[in-house]
Amino acid sequence: MADVLIIGAGIGGLALGLMLERAGIPCRIFEAAPEIKPLGVGINLLPHAMKELGALGLEETLAGQGVLTQKAVFFNRFGQLIHQEALGRAAGYGWPQISIHRGDLHASLVAEFVQRAGGERLLLGWQCTGAGEDGTARFRRTETGETLPPQRGSIVVGADGIHSALRKQLYPEEGEPIYSGVNMWRGVTRWPPILGGAAMIRCGWFTHAKLVIYPIRNAIDGAGRQLVNWVVEIATPRYERWNWARAGRLADFIGPVESWHFDWLDVPEFLRRADVALEYPMVDKDPLPRWSFGRMTLLGDAAHPMYPRGSNGAGQAILDARALADCLAASAEPVAALAVYEERRREATARVVRTNRSTPPDAILGEVAKRTGDQPFRSIDEVISRDELLAITDAYKRVAGYEKEKLRQ
Ligand SMILES: Cc1cc2nc3c(=O)[nH]c(=O)nc-3n(C[C@H](O)[C@H](O)[C@H](O)COP(=O)(O)OP(=O)(O)OC[C@H]3O[C@@H](n4cnc5c(N)ncnc54)[C@H](O)[C@@H]3O)c2cc1C
Repeated sequence: MADVLIIGAGIGGLALGLMLERAGIPCRIFEAAPEIKPLGVGINLLPHAMKELGALGLEETLAGQGVLTQKAVFFNRFGQLIHQEALGRAAGYGWPQISIHRGDLHASLVAEFVQRAGGERLLLGWQCTGAGEDGTARFRRTETGETLPPQRGSIVVGADGIHSALRKQLYPEEGEPIYSGVNMWRGVTRWPPILGGAAMIRCGWFTHAKLVIYPIRNAIDGAGRQLVNWVVEIATPRYERWNWARAGRLADFIGPVESWHFDWLDVPEFLRRADVALEYPMVDKDPLPRWSFGRMTLLGDAAHPMYPRGSNGAGQAILDARALADCLAASAEPVAALAVYEERRREATARVVRTNRSTPPDAILGEVAKRTGDQPFRSIDEVISRDELLAITDAYKRVAGYEKEKLRQ
């Protein structure tokens, strides 16, 4: 039997590789990068993603590397508490929420795939240049540009990320990702535990500046400090093309948060002590009318890049992988399996893309900023009720597929 060709060894491609391997379906993963490097900074794995990674036997490894996040806390830009709620197991889920360095997560997925499927099934330096509806993929060697022999599979899965070559081939007129109007600076700082050391904190709003903070490694030194991930998000027309590794400059984002000296964190000091800062525009793409053409389909960011406002892009890629592996295991006819996969996942992920534009969990902050004119409040109860706040976060859980009751099924 021809194997499944997976283009891209990112989180989605590796999750698919592991799930196919578990189902006894042979696959190979072709990655353009000549070597695997730890890119990016922090990422959150919500309970729906952890359910799938746990079923692959990865919960203990990831929990050991990352931080079991216990609560979400929302503040305005004056450091006043707006809302908090429990997360992961602390909220009664059967799976944790894990905040982790994306490099740790990626390295664990690579190691697991190589161990289970064999190193020869992960090909590095193979840049896909296109694919055919007959399941053939074309490649060149990334370092030299030399043409490599085309490969034939039962299907070809484009898991090649936001700048997907396969998506470009299928939709040549689509153009670049769409800028949201918000630019992001991300980094990590070694710092003592903030608010108990297991909180995902969101503070302020884009029109001035929004800050997201969560720890991603515990006890990194003798003083018990954590590696703490942060993101500063500011509405601005100025941005550069999306790239995982663009360096960010403190001077470009420190101004709006210079006065944020809260009793729980001195924000400018915390940001000045950062080990690294990266810059990305917040971008997405419009949902596609179709993912699958003959024996070719899309998965993860190649299929549905979304704003990172719900900690959900990698999670949705992992859910895609589960659905595709299940469909391929259930049908001997790959083209029919792709149709069922697309039916299960295309509209579901389109809803997440659209909700991340309008009302992801941080919409709480936008609503409070709007009602208060982005000024301090006397009491949050005079601004918004707890039921209204919970309605926003609960609606997002339903759309993204991590409603507690549903996940138990
Ligand atoms: C700032 C930010 C914060 C985020 N935070 C979270 C979060 O907390 N939780 C969450 O779930 N998600 C988060 N995401 C989203 C998440 O990172 C992505 O959704 C996820 O990485 C998508 O995985 P993927 O495998 O589809 O794509 P990628 O991880 O982008 O992987 C694509 C792979 O394909 C390779 N490739 C590209 N082109 C080719 C080619 N032509 N041939 C061969 N290989 C190729 C690339 O080198 C790469 O290895 C965040 C995103 C951003 C930008």
